[in-house]
Amino acid sequence: MPPNMSPKKVPIPEQKPDERIKNFQEVALGYTPEQAVQESLRCLQCKTRPCVAGCPVSVMIPEFIKKVSEGNFEEAYRLLAKENCLPAICGRVCPQETQCEILCVRGKKGEPVAIGRLERFVADYAMGHMPQEVPEIKKNGIQVAIAGGGPAGLTCAGELARMGYDVTIFEALHALGGVLMYGIPEFRLPKNLVAKEIANALSLGVKIEKNVIIGKSITVDELFQEGFQAVFIGCGAGLPSFLKIEGENLNGVYSANEFLTRANLMKAYDFPNVPTPVKIGKRVAVVGGGNVAMDAARTAKRLGAKEVYIVYRRSEAELPARAEEVHHAKEEGIIFKLLRNPVKILGKDGWVAGLECVEMELGEPDESGRRRPIEKKGSNFEFPVETVIIAIGGTPNPLIRQTTPGLEAQKWGGIIVDEATMKTSKEGVYAGGDIVTGAATVILAMGAGKKAAVAIHEALQKSHSQTTGA
Ligand code: FAD
Ligand code: SF4
Ligand code: SF4
Repeated sequence: MPPNMSPKKVPIPEQKPDERIKNFQEVALGYTPEQAVQESLRCLQCKTRPCVAGCPVSVMIPEFIKKVSEGNFEEAYRLLAKENCLPAICGRVCPQETQCEILCVRGKKGEPVAIGRLERFVADYAMGHMPQEVPEIKKNGIQVAIAGGGPAGLTCAGELARMGYDVTIFEALHALGGVLMYGIPEFRLPKNLVAKEIANALSLGVKIEKNVIIGKSITVDELFQEGFQAVFIGCGAGLPSFLKIEGENLNGVYSANEFLTRANLMKAYDFPNVPTPVKIGKRVAVVGGGNVAMDAARTAKRLGAKEVYIVYRRSEAELPARAEEVHHAKEEGIIFKLLRNPVKILGKDGWVAGLECVEMELGEPDESGRRRPIEKKGSNFEFPVETVIIAIGGTPNPLIRQTTPGLEAQKWGGIIVDEATMKTSKEGVYAGGDIVTGAATVILAMGAGKKAAVAIHEALQKSHSQTTGA
């Protein structure tokens, strides 16, 4: 077939904004086989594969796209799944615009190849059409423990299981997936798909112990006493940060973490069919500008709020959320109050009644490279809201580092690792994902899990060949 030289990506069908704000079904509907083939023909099959360098798990991008262009979706999936155990998830939530797609040569004179959309298409096709292919694995009988069943832990577990290790995931909650399950809303990442893809990734006999809190139910040292020979910690950064302003204890103030967990994991949007409601006012202010803030705002809208504001202290150019999320939020009528910073949550009879903000302007760049927001003196103003959702990030729960002697951490709580191996300061203990970097991305967490699996394998092989003299 001739190459497709269109400078634009083949558009992805989506639910219309006025329809989708009334439901929790997925916004983007995915490519048809014809659309996927058309988009795959935009790939120039560059010999130097620049796009691959942008992917933290090194997906074989040109190779799988070539198979799509030939209509061989099954082989495309096999190539994709070699490097990525969660492709349906990554195709949906990876910030492709700053990872693989930013390096695509087609992006120089138009839009890059829609690598994420093609990845999603291939993974969905496989889920719907291909029987699961479980390779024969020779088990080596060596036990490895994984603390936390988010993307970092799942990837580390899947990779080690493929190498023959006897892997057990210990997860604090009653469901695996971490933020994929309790944070990212159904309308961006359907939970039945997350559950299926996780089951697939762990099909090599990974054991799962749910409702086990490492550091409370059992400590890292006790895991070693029980016979585990290495431990990977992927417990995320789920402890919410707060603004530390007056009024934060009022009824009607949520952390985004609590709000989204209620809405997603506990399916509050289906109340009263489920026992967990989430109370939301007519007017909602979400403080923050990342993906979490966009998700909270769009969820609030779907739960019935009439006016939803994003309050962010920098300008649009500095919004950390994915461009696609900002675009979708705007389409859904979310109102952006940019260069505004909350200074007080106003209350009435113990409940939120409004938000007092101050106007900001941008000064010189700070250490993050973004221009520093500076308060405009005397510019305070108030507006009425009944709910305030705080989405300004989070830090790791201190439980593990408090109960694991010898485990060194940064002042803010992130576990310190050697970046090449993800090895911590404690022998046999590795860590990766948000617990090391602070809030980041699914694919970076997966990349860290993969890197740690390789390093654990190398270390355990070395120590076993020394003990056996092999
Ligand atoms: P997590 O996903 O946080 O998983 C950690 C797991 O460990 C959890 O299951 C937790 O229950 C468990 N755990 C915690 N403590 C213990 C313990 N003591 N013992 C046992 N288990 C424990 N990234 C993107 O790439 N794209 C997006 O669009 C995107 N949107 C996001 C939207 C929201 C609302 C949020 C909150 C984050 C978003 N992110 C996004 C970020 C991304 O989800 C995270 O970077 C990623 O999930 C980190 O993976 P992780 O495995 O390190 O941690
Ligand atoms: Fe791009 Fe993410 Fe796929 Fe890697 S996993 S190729 S970064 S969409
Ligand atoms: Fe294809 Fe773009 Fe990768 Fe080149 S850089 S191989 S065009 S996806």
